Amino acid sequence: MITLHPKVVEFLKEPKKLFIKGEWRESIEGDTFETINPATGEVLGVVYEASSKDVDLAVDAASKAFRSGEWSSISSYERSRLMEKLAGLMERDIDILAQLDTLDNGKPIKDMLTADLPNAIENLRYFAGWTTKHYGQTIPVSEQYLNYTRHEPVGVVGQIIPWNFPIMMALWKIAPALATGCTIVLKPAEQTPLSAIYLGKLIEEAGFPKGVINIINGFGKITGEALVKHPKVNKIAFTGSTPVGQRIMKEAANTLKRVTLELGGKSPNIILPDADLNKAIPGVFSGIMVNQGQVCCAGSRVFIPRDMYDVVTKKLVEYAESVKLGNGLDEATTMGPLVSKAQQNVVTSYIQKGIEEGAQLLTGGTSPESGFYVTPTVFSDVEDSMTIAKDEIFGPVVVAMPYDSIEEVVERANSTPYGLAAGIWTENLKNAHKVTNLLKAGTVWVNCYNLTNAAVPFGGFKESGFGREMGSYALSNYTEVKSVWVNL
Ligand code: NAD
Repeated sequence: MITLHPKVVEFLKEPKKLFIKGEWRESIEGDTFETINPATGEVLGVVYEASSKDVDLAVDAASKAFRSGEWSSISSYERSRLMEKLAGLMERDIDILAQLDTLDNGKPIKDMLTADLPNAIENLRYFAGWTTKHYGQTIPVSEQYLNYTRHEPVGVVGQIIPWNFPIMMALWKIAPALATGCTIVLKPAEQTPLSAIYLGKLIEEAGFPKGVINIINGFGKITGEALVKHPKVNKIAFTGSTPVGQRIMKEAANTLKRVTLELGGKSPNIILPDADLNKAIPGVFSGIMVNQGQVCCAGSRVFIPRDMYDVVTKKLVEYAESVKLGNGLDEATTMGPLVSKAQQNVVTSYIQKGIEEGAQLLTGGTSPESGFYVTPTVFSDVEDSMTIAKDEIFGPVVVAMPYDSIEEVVERANSTPYGLAAGIWTENLKNAHKVTNLLKAGTVWVNCYNLTNAAVPFGGFKESGFGREMGSYALSNYTEVKSVWVNL
């Protein structure tokens, strides 16, 4: 078990305040909530909860910072410099940030240090590079007129994020908004507020103008909804579940806010008959098990050629039984607890439903006594019509299904309201491209899974949402295009 960094110990003792206009404030009404360590069930700390009045303050701060031009109108080089500075501070404090997310979310510390944080920092540096490059066009309409476009920041952005990758999701949202000159009110998930609060300290230390980034904690129904309803918020960028995304879109219609939504999934991971099973089986296994299965793009429906089905499911069971389940602060741990008691209940009730509906539980499905753990679970004999094959479980549960032809598997892979991601395992280039083109998904991984990069767009088709995070595509989420005509 690693020893906690002294700054983490210190930080946990402090009351966790709201970061508004560059200052640390208690909530106006003094409400607080507790954040829990899912590995032990113990309280990690007390966090101030933002009411609609606190949301007003944060939005006013962001609005003033936007209108003053302190951020949008300073040189793009200066914006880039501050973003780079923040990235450097995150690198300096990488152990602290990693420990905070592991404590709050439960995930293995080595995943934090090798995946979440490098990716978060990469996003900040990548978008810092865009501040000087996201320019408009000159359009050759006629000799009489000079026509050009400007990419202007959309204004005040409300950003609402989930608990599964707390610091990484924060940076996926903050980085492109900063690069384009927007100002921000960030609402982290109530289950995992800690790393974003610490990030606020680094933002303060980096010297960002006050009010450019405000961080307020609280629950979706109160803090989240107040942000979505607020008339001075020009855009909501949301990552979370599809039902909440639908609610936000309806609410945003009242003020015609811009909205981008990164929502849920039930992604197919397809082993084709010509796959190399030595790569495909560990690939589909980690495709669902990474982050305890709490990944929006998890390859949660594993399709296997019928004549390979027994071999593959047997091996998946072996992998599941070799997982080292434990406290994320133990460096030997390969799978931590689920984020909360509520999430543990959701996952175990899906497992129960799978058994009741006739799927065969090959391994897992148990919950060790202390902490919010669920052992890695493999189901076989699953039918498309079963609940575990249709709903997003968001837990470490393999749903393994046999198929007989490529046409059939493509049809079944696409027969879901979701369209976030898909995986294909094949040694045949022609099949790889043929199937890729037929899949209705925002990302297709061929002979790999769950890879993301700051330069590569990520987002959903269908009910998995719209708009793209990362890559140059993300910049359009945060800008309006102005066309200018000059009569010469
Ligand atoms: P959730 O939708 O319940 O909550 C997400 C965030 O929205 C939280 O900050 C929450 O407080 C807030 N929220 C809840 N209700 C709200 C409301 N009425 N108004 C405004 N804000 C509200 O989702 P969750 O359970 O925290 O996260 C898991 C879900 O997120 C899964 O469905 C998963 O697929 C999805 N997800 C998607 C992506 C992606 O990039 N597509 C990434 C991570 C997670």
